[in-house]
Amino acid sequence: METNEPAAAIEVKDLDKIYPGTGGRAAKHALKGVSLAIPRGSIFGLLGPNGAGKSTLINILAGLVRKSGGKAWVWGIDIDKQPRAARAAIGVVPQELTLDPYFPARAALELQAGLFGIPKVARRTDELLKVLGLADKATASARSLSGGMRRRLMVGKALVHNPPVLVLDEPTAGVDVALRQQLWDYVRLLNRRGTTVLLTTHYLQEAEALCDRIAIMADGQVVANDTTGALLRGVE
Ligand code: ADP
Repeated sequence: METNEPAAAIEVKDLDKIYPGTGGRAAKHALKGVSLAIPRGSIFGLLGPNGAGKSTLINILAGLVRKSGGKAWVWGIDIDKQPRAARAAIGVVPQELTLDPYFPARAALELQAGLFGIPKVARRTDELLKVLGLADKATASARSLSGGMRRRLMVGKALVHNPPVLVLDEPTAGVDVALRQQLWDYVRLLNRRGTTVLLTTHYLQEAEALCDRIAIMADGQVVANDTTGALLRGVE
């Protein structure tokens, strides 16, 4: 990741997605020619109401949804030409907590590293537990962790393969104010250490607190994309 660093951590061009109609459900044009560049080293906010297409965009980048048209690069890697390498450059923290309640924290990270094919000697499990503030909870099962600790463990799972780009999908949905601050601090720390962060949120306040740049999506299109300062001046 030190060599050949691309100018944009993520770039999408004319991205299109049409979900075909199935059953009684009508087809949905979820992305209508989205173009965006997310600068390396930034904390980038993707804002927009429910149904705007934020998750669809993220899922395409993560290799979970197939695009209908356009191009996408993660860390300079074309997702069509090198899908595996592109997936290795991104870590995604999903909206829902997806932890096995009976699994200890360390084991959850080790299992995830195994899924990514990281050899034992190259794993960073203890380092991750430490930066996540979970070192003394390494053997505690997920269900015995607080909400904040569970969230941090989810972030840890997304970081086992040391991706240069971290995607947080609605990181603080349903999270109380104190915990929200903690999570924000942690995202800032990761960013200072070199991770580019893309986060989706409903909350302008969250984007304002964290992000260098904000893109606003509505109905499958990008309707604004600017520095946070310029964007907020426009809102006032
Ligand atoms: P957001 O994350 O901004 O809330 P989504 O990307 O989840 O938006 O959804 C964009 C649009 O695509 C919505 O109208 C949603 O109902 C539709 N959609 C999302 N996933 C599917 C799917 N698997 N099949 C059909 N339509 C979908």
